[in-house]
This record gives sequence, C-alpha cells and structure tokens, in this order.
Amino acid sequence: MDNVGDKKTLRPSWLIGLIFLFCFNPSQALGKEVAIGVFAYQGEHASTSDWTPLISYLNQALPEHRFRLENHDAASLHQAIAGERIDLVITNPGYYIAMEAAFGLSRIATLESSGVSAAKALGSAVLVRSDRTDLQELSDLAGQRLAAVAPDAFGGYLLAAQEMLRNGVDPETDLKEIRFLGLPMDQIVEAVQQGRVDAGIVRACVPEQMVREKRLSSADFRVLSLRQEDPFPCALSTPLYPNWPLAVTRQTDPVLAKQVAHALLSMPQTADGMGWTVPADYQPVHDLYRALRVGPYAYLREITPEGLARRFWPWLLGALLALVAWIIHTVRVEHLVLRRTAQLRDSLSAREQAETRMRDSQEQMEHLSRLSVLGELSGNLAHELNQPLTTIGTYARTVLRRQDSGRLTSEAISEACTQIVNEAERAGGIVQRIRHFARKRSAVREPVDLVLLAQEARHLVVGMLAHPPEIHIDNQLPASCRVLADGPQIQQVLLNLLKNAVDAGRNLGPDRQGIRVMVEAVDNWVQLHVVDQGCGLEPPQLAHLFEPFFTTKPDGLGLGLPICKTIIEAHGGRLWAQPNAAGPGMCFSFSLPCHDLPT
Ligand code: ADP
Repeated sequence: MDNVGDKKTLRPSWLIGLIFLFCFNPSQALGKEVAIGVFAYQGEHASTSDWTPLISYLNQALPEHRFRLENHDAASLHQAIAGERIDLVITNPGYYIAMEAAFGLSRIATLESSGVSAAKALGSAVLVRSDRTDLQELSDLAGQRLAAVAPDAFGGYLLAAQEMLRNGVDPETDLKEIRFLGLPMDQIVEAVQQGRVDAGIVRACVPEQMVREKRLSSADFRVLSLRQEDPFPCALSTPLYPNWPLAVTRQTDPVLAKQVAHALLSMPQTADGMGWTVPADYQPVHDLYRALRVGPYAYLREITPEGLARRFWPWLLGALLALVAWIIHTVRVEHLVLRRTAQLRDSLSAREQAETRMRDSQEQMEHLSRLSVLGELSGNLAHELNQPLTTIGTYARTVLRRQDSGRLTSEAISEACTQIVNEAERAGGIVQRIRHFARKRSAVREPVDLVLLAQEARHLVVGMLAHPPEIHIDNQLPASCRVLADGPQIQQVLLNLLKNAVDAGRNLGPDRQGIRVMVEAVDNWVQLHVVDQGCGLEPPQLAHLFEPFFTTKPDGLGLGLPICKTIIEAHGGRLWAQPNAAGPGMCFSFSLPCHDLPT
C-alpha cells in the first residue's frame, strides 16, 4: 500500500479484538453482504493481512451488514467495478481518479497516518548510489538508466516521472533506458546497488524502512533533488499527494455509504496511528495525470479528432464562438452594405435625375440667352442684310435698264449675275451663321481653336452692327496648345463678352470704342482676355457682377455673365473680371485647361 509507515505493524491486541468480534458476532451471519474491493498491489497475502482488521471493524460497527474483502490487481478491480460486483473500493489515488472518471467512483474517506496530513501522505524518492557524485538533481538523469516499478505505478513511477518532467527531463525520451522491475521495490534498490541502473524510483519511506530492517545502509544511498516536507518523516524527491481513498460506486446504497463513512470516521486510530478521515482533495492527482497524459488523460496523446477535441475543447469552443461572432458580424456587415448600397443607388439616381434636369434647364437657358443676344443684335441684322439685297437690286435694275436701251451685252449680264450671286451668298452666309448660332444642341467636348472662335465671334458681332468698333485679336498662343471644349458654347461666351464690351463703349467717343482680345498660355492654362475702354464698373457693382439678374442696362436680363461663368466652370476653367490695367474700361478673362495636342 502506498502509505507512510507499515500497516503490517498494526497492534496485535487491536487486531485480535477485531477478529474476535468478527468471529463471534451473531448477527453477521444474517447481514447483507458488502464486498470491499481492494487494490492488492503487493499480492493477496499482504493485502489480506493489511485490510482484515478493517473488515472486522466494519462488521463489528455495522452488524446488519456482512463485509467481505476482495483482493484485486488493477485489471480485475476495473472489471469488478464495471461488472458492479463490489460495493466499496479501496485503491491508490491514481487508480481512484481513473475509475472516478470511468465509473463515477466517489470517495467517502481518506486513509490517515499519524502525524501526517491525509492530503500530503504519498511521495517518491529517486535513489542513486552515494558514490555517483555526478548525479545530484533530477535534471542530471538525462541519458541515464532508470529503474521503476511499472508504467502505471503511482509512487513507483508516476510521481517521480512528473517531477523529472518539471526538471526538464522527459522520462520517455531523455533517458538512456528505463526498466520496469515490478514489486517488491527491493528489486529496484538492489538494481541501483549493483550498478545495473544509475537511479531507481521507489515510494517514499521504502529506503528508511529497509534501513530500519538493516537491509540497507544509509551511507550507501542518496536521494536526488532531496526535499523535506514537515512533518513527513522520510526523504523525498517529489511533492506529497493525498493518501488512499475508500470510495463507493454508483450502485452503492446511499444509506450504506453513509453508515460506512460514519463508521470509518469514528474508527479509533490503530496503535501506529492509522485511521480514516474526511475525503482529501484529489485535484493534485488529476493535475499529475493530466500533465503526464496517462490514466483518464491518456486521450490527450491521441491525435484523433475526438482526442484533439477533448484536449483542446476550450480552444475549439472559443474558436467556434469567434466563428459564430464573425459570421454574425459578416452577415450584419453584408446586410448594412446592401442597405447602404441601395440607399446610395437611390441617392445616385436621384442625383442623376437632378443633374439631368439641371442640364436640361441649363441648355434651355443657354438657348434663351443665345436668342436674347440675337434679339439685341437683330436691329442691326436688317441693316446687314440690306446691303447685299440693295446691291442685288441695283445690279438687277442695271440689267433691265440696259435691256430697255438695247445696250445689254453678254459681258454686262455676266458681271451683273456674278455680283448678284456673290451678294446672295453673303446674305445667305449671314442667315446661316445666325441659324447655326441659335440652334438648340447638346454639349460636346472636342479640340477647338480659341483664336478661330474669337475671329468667328468678331465676324458675327461686326456683321450685325451698323457701326462696329475695331476688335483686335492678339494671338500669343503656342501652336500646339488646344483646348477640349464645346465650340458653340465657348463662342457664346465670347459673343457675350464682346457684346458687353461694345455696350460699355456705346455712348463714348471713338477713342474709347476699341476692343482687344488677347489669347495666351499661362502654365497649363489657356487664358483669353477681352479688354475694352468703356464705362467700367464701380467696386460695389463688381461684387455683384456674376450674380443672376444683375444688370445696369434698361433692357438687360442680367443672365449673360452667370451663364458664361457656368459654361466656363463646366469646362474646368474660371471666369473673372477686373478693371482694365492699361486705362479705362474692364478686362474680362477666362481660363481653360490646355491640352498639348498634335497639330
Ligand atoms: P446684361 O448684359 O443683360 O445686363 P450680363 O450678365 O451680360 O447681363 O451683364 C451684367 C452687367 O454687367 C451689365 O448690365 C453691365 O452693367 C455689367 N457689365 C458687363 N460687361 C461689362 C463691361 N465690359 N463693362 C462694364 N460693365 C459691364
């Protein structure tokens, strides 16, 4: 039994008394049989001798039952519990937690030795020969030969194995060799003594007992990583763990369990201090088995999906929760994106509709503005058309006169007709230009020659005025520089600026009539300036110049400049006005982005 002290030293008087009670208890023959399965790790004989006093005590304390001892090795104890053939189990802490996990075993008391806490009663010692000065700590065991009881022996292997692991030596991989010699543990001590192994794991107190029995000299041995745990009386290499428990199975009658627990706690201590106390905490044993991944935690070694799942379930659960959270988040984001996209689509289409409406009304305005310019100039249109018509009439009458007087020669007919055709074409050209200008159309972008546009605008203005001023065009533009624009729209701007410039000088002397149009390139911009010497504008008027309906003319609409500004800005440019720097009058300028195009 993995227990301090030696239960074989139970006091004979106590033992005899219990046997007496057992033999002469008249009621026991009638009692219900209760099987107590014991892990007989030292063999049946030793086990029977160890536990018979307890059986006797229970029979005496609970005469309505007949307690019977059943000795088992690890495998048969397992089967007996599985087959529900035993009611109570006494086993070492390691097997207890294994069967607690497998069959729901539940401890009702823990064995206690005098002066030693039931929770800290079992430990191991790792022995080496005292002449092995190279071995002092458990960490020195790497590459050495080690002897132990069995791979599943609690005090005879596992406790020390865990401590070796903690000291950086994995007993499964870092040793030169490990030999499992079984019980009794004396064999392990002998193997160390004879140098067949470098170190041996034995249950704590085994060396002290052997020294007491003169089978071993304390001078010959040393305990590795020696630790002393007060009041534990023996040398240790490991921490201490709880003592053996007595446990009930799932099938045990609860009343019986209660009676047994009560009897155990009331049991008088034996002469050598053995007794039972309240169940100890076996969590350290669980921790040990989990760290070594043995017993109920052997699955931690399995790389099966189930093993991995059992091992990493907290992580898997966390990952699953994170996944669920992520899915919820993604779905939510997706939903929000869809909703937002729909909103954006709606607002975009609303904006497009508004823009279309705006474009339509702008085009309408431009058209009206063109008509308005024409309207203002139309008074002079009659005069302009009158000239060719008069010439045509004159030539026609000359032909008629000559015919009447018989002086009509074929040369005279030919000259008159040529002149009539020329003048008719001139009149047709005037009408054509006006119709072209007044036509309603949609905006386009194409390379335009600003100077050419300025010349055409000049032609149109001059052609429609009775006394046109001199309009000088000053071209300082590099040949490669073109603007992408809507030609008729830019021409409309030019026409407006020229008309305003003409209006500004209308009532002034001839020296104030001249107008200068200058086209130049500034950085990446083309700038066009219309400079007049007219009446100019006062600063307060300048501030409102581009506001719709601002006009100083009795018949003005005040829409020309705002429309010009809109047109220029729609081309990515700017329209501004300032007083003429070189004299009286104003300078109206606009800029447009310059494109270096192949000429
Ligand atoms: P409208 O010609 O119908 O008045 P515009 O928007 O073309 O409308 O012009 C607004 C006003 O700006 C004009 O009434 C005039 O007072 C002023 N203006 C425009 N160009 C000139 C200029 N070159 N010199 C002085 N004043 C000008």
